[in-house]
Amino acid sequence: MLASFRVLIVLCLLFSSSTGAAGEVSGTLDGLLEFLGKKEHMEILNGSLGSEQCHLVSHSVERVLASHREELFCKNPVKAICREYTKSEEFSKSAIKKRVLGELSKKEREYVEATFDSPLELLRPKNPSSFLSYLKKVDNQIAELDPSIDLDQIMKDVINSMTRVIQSESSPELKAVASLISDKLSRQKVYSASKFFEEPSTSKILIQNVCGYDGLEFTNASISQQSNVDGLLICPSMILKAIRSGHPKEFLFGLIAHEVGHQLESISGRSFSSMYECVSKHHESILKSMTDDASIEKAAKAYMTEIWADQWTVRATEEFGKTILDSEESRKVTMWTLISHCDDAKKKKFSSGDNKHPNDYYRLGYTAGKSKYLRSLFGCTPIPQSEAPGCGFSGEER
Ligand SMILES: [Zn+2]
Repeated sequence: MLASFRVLIVLCLLFSSSTGAAGEVSGTLDGLLEFLGKKEHMEILNGSLGSEQCHLVSHSVERVLASHREELFCKNPVKAICREYTKSEEFSKSAIKKRVLGELSKKEREYVEATFDSPLELLRPKNPSSFLSYLKKVDNQIAELDPSIDLDQIMKDVINSMTRVIQSESSPELKAVASLISDKLSRQKVYSASKFFEEPSTSKILIQNVCGYDGLEFTNASISQQSNVDGLLICPSMILKAIRSGHPKEFLFGLIAHEVGHQLESISGRSFSSMYECVSKHHESILKSMTDDASIEKAAKAYMTEIWADQWTVRATEEFGKTILDSEESRKVTMWTLISHCDDAKKKKFSSGDNKHPNDYYRLGYTAGKSKYLRSLFGCTPIPQSEAPGCGFSGEER
């Protein structure tokens, strides 16, 4: 693989008239992959090549990169999955906010800006409609960046995949509540901020609690937190982050599966405790090393709701991947659905999580990276006996 890669680089250098781009293409294979993995660099190279060579080179480089990433999944899932992830602020929240406020009438803008300082302002009679008009414009601005994102369709894919999880799971605890879970799944809805605000039965204040007083500050998503509303709220900034990842649909699939997993906690409590036993037995010291909160006595317990929700993302991802018959495509999509977990991938391996979510190295390395199914999909060797195994819903090693 290394040889073919060198050929491609030579080709790029030969045809490249842009010394700025070519000059940076040097150093280790890892550095080269890092460089070429960035879209803008590929565009620079493409722009400086003849059209046919350009297409051939970029296509071949993409294939080499993809196969390198697949190999890397076995050794270092975080690096493989998060490699393409970029935190570039190409679409800035403040620019969107400024543009949207500029489109409101003076009165509306005054009402909306008052709620940014004090969320209780939202309860004043004239504020809700102004705030809704603001949120709609924010959502529209973001939708224009990628009109192909269809949240309802992604939710359908998640529900179908999670239904297949229930059908294929051998876990006796999950089987016992299968019909309750199916029922809950069928009621799930996904809301953008403005849709959530418009729905009569939702808590309006939740938008500001979850997404920030201006609706844009926090890159977040949440379940409705109301027993009478089966659904989730995806904040505008989270959709923006999904777009920036380069694979918004898969990113949102992984994120929505995680949130729907939280929705199922209340009816799957028994399997939750079986899973906890496995996690605390095998992963307690790893999880403990991630927290800087000395008061956390049992890290496995503190992180368990998130580990449980992540397990749903991984299982839904596995089932979703199985529906894609082309195995190369299936491997790609599988990687992309996990990128919503790439939050602190650039930090060092044992960086702490946020005392609620384990860090990426646990979320991707243990929850996804130990999955026997994913390991066989990526052609990895079995996990050595000496390494901690992954933990399934019933506490089974998986
Ligand atoms: Zn969560």
